[in-house]
Amino acid sequence: MIDGSFNCTCCGECCRGDMHVFLNPDDLRLMACFFGYGNTKKLFEQSIVIIDNERNNAPLPRLRFSTGETGCCPFLENRLEETGDGHRLLGLCRLHPGAKPGVKPLVCWLAPLHRTVDLAEGTETWGFKPPLPGCPGCDGIEGGLKAAAGAPDFLTERLKAEKEFFRKLSTMLARGASQDEIIRTLYCFDTDCKK
Ligand code: SF4
Ligand code: SF4
Repeated sequence: MIDGSFNCTCCGECCRGDMHVFLNPDDLRLMACFFGYGNTKKLFEQSIVIIDNERNNAPLPRLRFSTGETGCCPFLENRLEETGDGHRLLGLCRLHPGAKPGVKPLVCWLAPLHRTVDLAEGTETWGFKPPLPGCPGCDGIEGGLKAAAGAPDFLTERLKAEKEFFRKLSTMLARGASQDEIIRTLYCFDTDCKK
């Protein structure tokens, strides 16, 4: 857990622009279920998710943000909040369910924590990184914040699933699997959720 005082102001700035939100297969499964899709392939067909090869030449799924001046995550929604002497515009996540785990991508849940997994060494390290420079929720705490190992308990299974994904992807990359094979094997599968 974070030892500090991260207070997201819901400005929505980290959910727009050229942010890259990468997903793992568990994220894809939960997101497909959110829409009632029987197969994760539909997320690609509907252009909610795209494949990105920017990281180490590995095909990775990420959310497709709209482009241009107002480009943003497909799940960002705005709301006006009364402030007493006026109002302000909030940037909220449609996938954020309040206190419950819900279907928000793991990387979004963890921010401003991030985890680095070293499969060869069998280790994982945790760090603190504001989701974007100048994040008002991290204001003044960057220097003193300690990111201790771990994340909220309700994310344990999702963190395990992501590590297993890293393992599979790394094995496939090491044996020279094609991009098509990786996409077909890891990112396109039936979901077990009810419509
Ligand atoms: S930029 Fe920071 S304060 Fe704004 S929505 Fe993202 S995490 Fe919250
Ligand atoms: S999924 Fe939610 S938290 Fe993540 S980038 Fe999109 S709107 Fe922001």
